[in-house]
Amino acid sequence: MTFSRPLPSPNALTAPYWQAAHQRELKLPRCEACAKFHFYPRSACPHCGSTQLGWHTASGKGEVYSFTVVHRAPSKGFEELVPYVVAVVALAEGPHLMTRLTQVQPDTVRIGMPVQVDFEKQDEETTLPVFCPVEK
Ligand SMILES: [Zn+2]
Repeated sequence: MTFSRPLPSPNALTAPYWQAAHQRELKLPRCEACAKFHFYPRSACPHCGSTQLGWHTASGKGEVYSFTVVHRAPSKGFEELVPYVVAVVALAEGPHLMTRLTQVQPDTVRIGMPVQVDFEKQDEETTLPVFCPVEK
């Protein structure tokens, strides 16, 4: 028997993010007035208050800002993943994004580690952005 993990429920604000992710592309909301990126998606720019927002493809590069290693699965669906790393990644564009690190031994993760986006298809509608160490 397999157990599923919870999946995102896109809404009007977040749908462009999830649609891009399903195309294996990381897109971020950016203010057209002050040109700053922000994340999570919202209806007004957190920097200047403008509602003139657009979506722009991000570099997919960043570094580990903070992380924790999960050893106890929060539900049955996560048991095959433990131990896994939940991280806050400081994106090159500025915003921080919470994600899971993949293709890495948890005990080798360090603050400041360069990472890049990767994508994990979950089903026919949903693909999750994850991050992995930059290959050297
Ligand atoms: Zn702005």
